[in-house]
Amino acid sequence: MSNNFEVIIVGGGLAGLTAAIHLSKEKNRVLVIEKKTYPHHKVCGEYVSHEISPYLESLDVSLQTSKAVAIDTLTLSTATGKSVQTKLPLGGVGISRYGFDNLLYQKALKNKVQFVFETVKNIHFEDDAFEVLTENEQKYEARIVIGAYGKRSSIDKQLKREFINKKSAWLGIKAHYEFPTFQKNHVALHNFKGGYGGLSKTETGAVNFCYLASYESFQKEKNVDSFNEKVVAKNPFLYEFLKNAKPMFDESLSIAQISFEQKQVVENHIIMCGDTAGLIYPLCGNGMAMAIHSAKIASENIHNFLSNKQFSRTELEQQYTRSWNATFKKRLWMGRQLQSLMMNEHLSNLALTAVTKSPALLRKLIKSTHGKPIVC
Ligand SMILES: Cc1cc2nc3c(=O)[nH]c(=O)nc-3n(C[C@H](O)[C@H](O)[C@H](O)COP(=O)(O)OP(=O)(O)OC[C@H]3O[C@@H](n4cnc5c(N)ncnc54)[C@H](O)[C@@H]3O)c2cc1C
Repeated sequence: MSNNFEVIIVGGGLAGLTAAIHLSKEKNRVLVIEKKTYPHHKVCGEYVSHEISPYLESLDVSLQTSKAVAIDTLTLSTATGKSVQTKLPLGGVGISRYGFDNLLYQKALKNKVQFVFETVKNIHFEDDAFEVLTENEQKYEARIVIGAYGKRSSIDKQLKREFINKKSAWLGIKAHYEFPTFQKNHVALHNFKGGYGGLSKTETGAVNFCYLASYESFQKEKNVDSFNEKVVAKNPFLYEFLKNAKPMFDESLSIAQISFEQKQVVENHIIMCGDTAGLIYPLCGNGMAMAIHSAKIASENIHNFLSNKQFSRTELEQQYTRSWNATFKKRLWMGRQLQSLMMNEHLSNLALTAVTKSPALLRKLIKSTHGKPIVC
């Protein structure tokens, strides 16, 4: 394998794999460097908004054939179990990250994307080109590097990104469960003191339970079983779930230090995609759609740069930043407001009382954090 590419993508999650499929479809030479082999489980709510379905179809990736579960209804409850149900304006599907990332990986292989399974430790830009160095001291070169390595990485330290030095108050926990009575077409968002968790079915029939919790509340209990029992199960819906559902993983997966701070979309000429560019609070249920959508915007601009000498690197970076902000900035802001509301016991009770009386208001709030289906 030659070590010289038009595009190197660091991180093969949803954003990285989508960009790889898009750019290889346009006949660019693409390398993905990913630290883990496929398939693998990831901490994620596993509800994907339909916003990205038409775009994925245009890349010849069908969520329907992957047996993803159609979801059209949301149940929302407060920590004390006050609840409301509504039809989702756009709806989506339930699919495990084990299945989804692997589906995209298989498609990327078909498109002749090359893969290296290593951890990237350094990205260097000089003389209008990049050199990417892995932990095994392998070097790869490219005209463009996409940073799609997720929420945080040692690369962020190397790039001296501002958010990396700020302490993050959140951690995420996830596992699959056998719970046959869970309604297939539902996604549920249940609150508890210091966090909230989502429940939805995946293509395997398993129910995914994934939650975001603050360190402040978690550290008092120290382990997942005790936290589930003493804090999470205070919500009556989650009490019923945890009492009756059978865990399918030996241990829950967890990630720490989840940062929702604002980030730069282009950093030292690296085009950042997905969570590497910015992460929305999970209660919005559209981080995956945003990751895939950002890969589309990046790929279109990168293809333009690679095929059109009149479109300079500066224009590429400015255009991508403008489009990214126009598409996602308002949603991220709205996500922050809803997160603050949900984390305040008194206000979330008031808000839920309001949306119980007017499910139309709830649908309006959901719409404000989601995009329309991407027209291709
Ligand atoms: C608790 C929680 C629940 C969520 N629930 C939902 C939900 O229900 N619906 C939804 O739409 N979104 C949800 N999200 C958001 C969603 O998970 C993310 O937005 C999405 O995974 C972003 O994809 P990505 O490709 O940017 O990053 P990732 O999927 O994290 O991919 C990054 C990849 O980079 C690799 N990598 C990292 N560092 C390196 C390195 N140095 N070298 C090589 N490879 C590297 C990693 O192994 C990984 O495969 C949730 C998030 C959290 C925290």
